[in-house]
Amino acid sequence: MNRISRRHFIRNTGAIAGGIIITRPAFTKAKTNQKPDQIVPEYRTLGKTGLKVTTVGYGAMRTTDAAVVERALDLGINFVDTAHVYQGGNCEKMVGKVVSKRRKDVILCTKIKQDSEKDMIRMFEQSLRRLKTDYVDILYAHSMKKVDHIHNETTMNLFQRFKKEGKVRYIGFSTHRNEAALLNQAAEDRFWEVILVAYNFEKEKELTAAINKAANAGIGIVGMKTQAGGYETDTMGKLSPHQAALKWVLQNPNVHTTIPSMVTFDQLEENIQVMGKKMGWNDRKILNKYAGGINDRYCRSCGACKDVCPHGVDIPEVNRCYMYADGYNDLDLARINYRELAVSENAAPCENCEVCVARCKYGIALKDRMPRMNQLLA
Ligand code: SF4
Ligand code: SF4
Repeated sequence: MNRISRRHFIRNTGAIAGGIIITRPAFTKAKTNQKPDQIVPEYRTLGKTGLKVTTVGYGAMRTTDAAVVERALDLGINFVDTAHVYQGGNCEKMVGKVVSKRRKDVILCTKIKQDSEKDMIRMFEQSLRRLKTDYVDILYAHSMKKVDHIHNETTMNLFQRFKKEGKVRYIGFSTHRNEAALLNQAAEDRFWEVILVAYNFEKEKELTAAINKAANAGIGIVGMKTQAGGYETDTMGKLSPHQAALKWVLQNPNVHTTIPSMVTFDQLEENIQVMGKKMGWNDRKILNKYAGGINDRYCRSCGACKDVCPHGVDIPEVNRCYMYADGYNDLDLARINYRELAVSENAAPCENCEVCVARCKYGIALKDRMPRMNQLLA
């Protein structure tokens, strides 16, 4: 079967995704926006690390223009997030180019995948070289999904060793799956110092409780996926939902900083406005409208359908990958994430499956979506 091209994807997403129509209205920034240079950065303390972090940090996963990161730092943002795998290493190189000029002013975070000790050392040393530094402030074990993962002794011992060697100041893990269980466990363990967690207004209440528990245990909490996939829906008129979504996350004081993905100057200028601003009535109205547009599109990774597939397809993970295409409109990123899935978990069996037995508790039409995923993302 022929692979689906980017152009074909964009033109035919409605058909591919079972009735989803992506429209991209030109959202305007809120009229109350301040001039970027007048914004006073807002800080919170990142748990027991004691680091003073701006509440809006910089998620560099998709950024290719170093000038946008540079501008963010000029405007006072002091927290920059990247990972070994992002853009095949080019993301760390780009971040390194900017941050190496002002290393002491930036709290620099990267992530490596959990692997053998030898491979994790290789990845981390390569990350340091790309970042043009001899230490990072926070090193995360990338994308932890199970409690076993955060109890992996090889990783725990190695990360401690990196700390003793002065190559890492604080250690943590990132998670966008099974998050509440991992946060609750980490709060009990008190081993990991920082957690990067997918958190937004669409997530279930138990995650908020777990975040509060972890923060109360002294763990620094960093929010990602704060805009629930960054969708732009045709129900929004000219309003952007992204400030309201970010304000929703930051109204919880136990979230110490956030790393919205920023690619353009406009996105940067939109997001930094949120620092120090409270969520108001209008924000709630916008967010309700946004939720109405994405409710049956955005997979919350709640895990309710995880073990339902008789062929072992990891439905939440496949849908997370799809979100990068559907929400961020970044098919390449969706494919990169999809190819990271184990063969035993991807959606290949869906192509020959007669009827999907999985039901999404939030109404995503899995029956229509799943059979198309492998062809789109493989
Ligand atoms: S379409 Fe079939 S193989 Fe795919 S997730 Fe649904 S039940 Fe599993
Ligand atoms: S597809 Fe639906 S039920 Fe399954 S994890 Fe996502 S939101 Fe939950």
